[in-house]
Amino acid sequence: MFKKILIANRGEIALRIIRACKEMGIRTVAAHSTADANSLPVRMADQAVCIGPGEASKSYLRIPALISAAEVTSCDAVHPGYGFLSENAGFAEVCGECNITFIGPSPESIRLMGNKSVARETAVAAGVPVVPGSDGPVESDEAALSSAARIEYPVILKASAGGGGRGMRIVHEESELLNSLKLVQTEAGAAFGDKTIYMEKYVTTPRHIEIQVLGDKHGNIVHLFERDCSIQRRHQKMIEEAPSGALDPEIRKKMTIAALSLARHIQYHSAGTFEFLLDSKKNFYFMEMNTRVQVEHPVTEMITDVDIIKEQIKVAFGLPLSFKQEDVSIFGHAIECRVNAEDPEKFIPSIGRIEELHLPGGPGVRIDSAIFQGYKIPSYYDSMIAKIIVHAHTRDEAIHRMRRALGEFHLSGMKTTVPLLSKIMYSEEFTKGDVSTRFIEDFLAKQKAASVHPK
Ligand code: ADP
Repeated sequence: MFKKILIANRGEIALRIIRACKEMGIRTVAAHSTADANSLPVRMADQAVCIGPGEASKSYLRIPALISAAEVTSCDAVHPGYGFLSENAGFAEVCGECNITFIGPSPESIRLMGNKSVARETAVAAGVPVVPGSDGPVESDEAALSSAARIEYPVILKASAGGGGRGMRIVHEESELLNSLKLVQTEAGAAFGDKTIYMEKYVTTPRHIEIQVLGDKHGNIVHLFERDCSIQRRHQKMIEEAPSGALDPEIRKKMTIAALSLARHIQYHSAGTFEFLLDSKKNFYFMEMNTRVQVEHPVTEMITDVDIIKEQIKVAFGLPLSFKQEDVSIFGHAIECRVNAEDPEKFIPSIGRIEELHLPGGPGVRIDSAIFQGYKIPSYYDSMIAKIIVHAHTRDEAIHRMRRALGEFHLSGMKTTVPLLSKIMYSEEFTKGDVSTRFIEDFLAKQKAASVHPK
């Protein structure tokens, strides 16, 4: 097994990886910015190396600094977590050239799936359904107009290099198209350094369903069922659950077969996620693949009892997967709530020092977080500060458990999204499982109307 792993990430995911390594008897090195010098991963890892100042571009995204950190500490592998360099084929390649194992898929897989428009074409080649769209990138205004007319409005313009819910724009009618195209091209150029845009039919009230897969370097590939990530705000996930109430055994089978055939088609190894949209008629369409561990991986771990991070480390080392498809089944129901440090009404980050903190506990509650009392949240990074995950026998029990857990969450010093999450958990719509990616938008509109016209 690996002797020492460099963690090229921060926050809760860095801590999650350190925890897996400790249980596997692997030593860890936390690569950190100056802004994270007092963070929990730095304290919990066996060693820590400062790789630069707070700005991610000068630390967590600096390949030479990370490689030097791995070399001076004699690490034989690097775990990139999610975000930052986790889907950077160049980083995976440089690691390989320096004889450091990149804990993730091959640079070729990352390249193939990292570009959303190429990924779409690959899915088509593997016989997996995709949303009707432009054939490849939109090359001109004329091409955009004719594609949209063929697909029919509404359409969604997407940056090929986009991610994290950014670089997307919905267009409802022809008069808006060219203006929106220019805007999204400019945004994509600035955010991702690539102005390439493609177009898809905008599915109006879909569910976001994703299939988790795990593959090893011996050609074994398994799925770990689905996650329902329909509760999103501005295309960013907020609440995830597994299994999905929208899938019956037949559709689940079809979706997992589609994910596995695409994974085999690209000879995928490591952990990966195939994201699909499921429309109201239960048609599903491939959207994109994430070639890394996902924020919401814990809900799958809870219902399958598979430790995705440990498997990812083992297969990167070259070991076969430690279980077969027939060994995994769904046990109970899990829900994850992402807690962000922000003003839920204004959706702006709320920065400050955590004065008091009490995290939920008790049966069936898991907290993945790197915050502590006295912790000052740095302004440079994502505003997610904790994930609350619950597991129970049924969805109903899981909802009650999450209500309790959110009620136990106490933090003073800044605003968080806990009150909003709690309102959703108590809402009739969520409880009934009546959800789509429009859920939060509709929910907030209803709340606003109720506050203007109280009963
Ligand atoms: P990212 O890589 O930024 O997460 P995705 O392509 O995964 O972007 O899309 C994020 C979310 O945007 C989806 O979960 C869904 O809610 C919405 N979305 C993307 N494509 C479509 C589409 N064609 N129709 C409707 N909603 C879409």
